[in-house]
Amino acid sequence: MYITTHGHTGAVLTATSVATLGIPLGLPVGLGAAFVSHFFLDYIQEYPYDDFKKNGYGKLFKIQSPSFLVFGICLLWLYSSHDYVYMIAYILGYFVGNYPDLRDKKWLWHEAKEPEDRLSCHNGEKVFKIGNFKLGYPTLINVTKAQNLTIQLVMTILIVVTTLFLL
Ligand SMILES: [Zn+2]
Repeated sequence: MYITTHGHTGAVLTATSVATLGIPLGLPVGLGAAFVSHFFLDYIQEYPYDDFKKNGYGKLFKIQSPSFLVFGICLLWLYSSHDYVYMIAYILGYFVGNYPDLRDKKWLWHEAKEPEDRLSCHNGEKVFKIGNFKLGYPTLINVTKAQNLTIQLVMTILIVVTTLFLL
């Protein structure tokens, strides 16, 4: 799945955990759920960026920019309401929700290590792998372009609705 889907899911799980369980328990529970959610969402295939590009949708940022923008507005919304705890929970959840994909990016870490040694969802041998079973890999659900864009839209609506509940 795309960055925004992982990020919005992580943010919502973390902030709602903090809201229901309090900071000391809700933050670790929410961040743990955000991390695990990444592997479950990876069962859904992401529609190839190249095809979006061919059809004039542009690169990654162009497809996801409306979602990024809405997330930024939600952060400002929480900030202006002095809901700093939820704002920080959103940022941490967004990051942790994407963390397994970030571990795939060698350019980001400047590591000599091979992908298998990283905390990765797609290449890593070590995370959530028991025998031949690896959580989130390979993908199980193939989606069309329209379905992928619909998921983007649903996640964007979800972050707005969650923010309204948190305020
Ligand atoms: Zn992934």
